[in-house]
Amino acid sequence: MPDICPKCGLLKDLCVCEILDKEETRKIKVYTERAKFKKLVTVVEGIDKSRIKETLAELKRKLACGGTVKDDMIVLQGNHKRRMSDALVKMGYPKEVIEVT
Ligand SMILES: [Zn+2]
Repeated sequence: MPDICPKCGLLKDLCVCEILDKEETRKIKVYTERAKFKKLVTVVEGIDKSRIKETLAELKRKLACGGTVKDDMIVLQGNHKRRMSDALVKMGYPKEVIEVT
């Protein structure tokens, strides 16, 4: 019996569901949040742990702001939603996975 994926009905050899699922979890979410003292911060969620520190450093330099890593998320001071997508793309993250809300 051939091994068939229950999700897409293709042979397991041809099926890409698993890869798509992985990419789904790798979505990068960008949103702003009000932190203490009503300061606005920009949160970047979903950056791979192995790259999070260099990504933070690069974003701080590119956007000229302060920031930190908190609970595996990048938290930058100020609202950088408009430039974040461009900055991340330039650093090699695919545009399709970046979701600015
Ligand atoms: Zn499948």
